[in-house]
Amino acid sequence: MILRKDFCLSLCRGRKKKIVTLIAMLIFLINAMFYVSLELYKLKTKNKEPWFKSLHFDENSYVDKSGMRVIVGHYVGGSAGGNLSEEEINANNYSPVPGAGEGGRPVQLSPRELIRARELYALHSYNILVSDKISINRSLPDMRSESCKQVQYNIDSLPTASVIIVFHNEAWSTLMRTVMSVLLRSPESLLKEIILVDDASERKYLGKELEDAVAKLDKVRLLRNKERKGLVGARLMGARTALGDVLLFLDAHCEVTPGWIEPLLDRAGSDDVFICPHIDLLSEDTLAYTKSIDAHWGAFSWRLHFRWLMPSTEVLLKKSEDPSKPYPTPAMAGGLFAVRKSLFWRLGGYDEGMLIWGAENLELSWRAWQCGARVEITSCSRVGHIFRRHSPYKYPGGVAKVLNANLARAASVWMDEWADFFFKFNPAIAAIRDLQTVADRDQLRKNLKCKSFKWYLENVWPQHFFPTDDRWFGRIKNDKGACIGVTAGTPGLGGPAAGVHCASDLDLERLVVYTPEGRIMADEGLCLEQGNGRAVWKSCSDKKKQIWQQKGPRLKTSSGQCLTLVVANDKHGVGDPLTAKRCREKDTGQIWHFERVPWR
Ligand code: UDP
Ligand code: MN
Repeated sequence: MILRKDFCLSLCRGRKKKIVTLIAMLIFLINAMFYVSLELYKLKTKNKEPWFKSLHFDENSYVDKSGMRVIVGHYVGGSAGGNLSEEEINANNYSPVPGAGEGGRPVQLSPRELIRARELYALHSYNILVSDKISINRSLPDMRSESCKQVQYNIDSLPTASVIIVFHNEAWSTLMRTVMSVLLRSPESLLKEIILVDDASERKYLGKELEDAVAKLDKVRLLRNKERKGLVGARLMGARTALGDVLLFLDAHCEVTPGWIEPLLDRAGSDDVFICPHIDLLSEDTLAYTKSIDAHWGAFSWRLHFRWLMPSTEVLLKKSEDPSKPYPTPAMAGGLFAVRKSLFWRLGGYDEGMLIWGAENLELSWRAWQCGARVEITSCSRVGHIFRRHSPYKYPGGVAKVLNANLARAASVWMDEWADFFFKFNPAIAAIRDLQTVADRDQLRKNLKCKSFKWYLENVWPQHFFPTDDRWFGRIKNDKGACIGVTAGTPGLGGPAAGVHCASDLDLERLVVYTPEGRIMADEGLCLEQGNGRAVWKSCSDKKKQIWQQKGPRLKTSSGQCLTLVVANDKHGVGDPLTAKRCREKDTGQIWHFERVPWR
């Protein structure tokens, strides 16, 4: 009996325990299911947008309507892995899935993989999970236009290339895919070598594992920087040992397409030009290869941020006559170009004082043009590049410090009066100007008898939007109090025009160039244009709608209407719309005061 009771007790206790455990498990399960479905729901609703949009990155980058990746402002230095473990940071998880990404097609991930990809994103600022699924030998379509395909090159007479690829902590699959794409798509006789320069990477898989992979490949050499120097130092290291006739620089996250090398070598052979391929887009999200706009050229904003813009009408016309002919560009993006070795060294290589990243592309472009060479793009050479919206690696001392020092060097050596403009409106950079020793670069400019920046603006980039001695510069203030300036819309893309706070003399957003032809130009190449009903900021062009003739205190369109600040919400008109309206004697919204601001 006792036994039975004890038995029953223990049994009953055991049962109770089981029930309690069961209930606890049930509650846990319900919670987990609820959490998972919430995550899935969130993903589903977010998936209407590209998934990377839900990552908390700076919004300062977008693909514009013409298909160019535009990065507005500059990179924010990366956290290089954030909360990831050492093991995760150092792992090479390359495991190609048959067919994935072939033909340049996008790779889509499952919802669960997306969550993982998001966690790993900080490592490279592109989707490493996708990259690891795509074969390093993946196929890509021929991206050339028909006219380019028809060009015949005499391969025997072309110079040979040393392809130089520098990298810092690049992903294994992306780096190797860059290398393999070059090996697979370059005629053997034209490819002298591929020089990989490791700029002091810390990732384990870039050590012995990379050495072993490289050892199996003909023509590929690996050099290593003991200390991190940045891309200039690393590229110079590669260039110094190059054996080919032409130096051909590529970033470590590129993929070249069929026929890519011949047009570059053909043009670089002429010894007076830095020739860039047409850079297409490799999506940082899916690694899909997509064409970027047919004609684009490189330039820069008032703050010396690199920008893609539409080439001048003249260049576009010439290009339409023969689309396979290279065309000039005021500046190069920097990562991808070819140049005859002799020209590269004759013009002074690179400015070795430029550390880590940034501004070297502008310095090189100005130096090339001002010192008797050219910078061009050939649409017949198509190379995909992963444009990142965020820099994944560390900048010693911070990205601003590094970049500003490089910009200060480039501006003080090459920009003459426009250097004064740049420093005046960027006091933080002016403050470090004197810390730069550029005597040897100044001497180089003298030795090479280089032309002025004025010559460059007038001849290479006559469509520029910088102030000049012939252009008025300052604030245009309405009688009601607000000023003309750009605030609305995406930077660089423009948007509806409204009155803005006049702010201080140093506030570039409130300052405009007024040209003798009557164009009101703001930074980023935006001009005030009368749209349908409202004035808007649009890319500067030859359009009549962008002409505002100054007649006394009024600004008039070609049809005689007056630029009007239509005061609605604020008595000074801040935030209120600008538009062209019938001129009225008493409308003070049509009275404009030109407050000149010295630009240098
Ligand atoms: N790079 C380098 N050392 C550095 C910074 C960059 O070797 O300190 C390499 C980087 O791995 C890449 C190239 O320089 O291959 C250009 O850098 P990135 O792609 O970040 O520049 P972006 O194309 O975004 O302007
Ligand atoms: Mn790059």
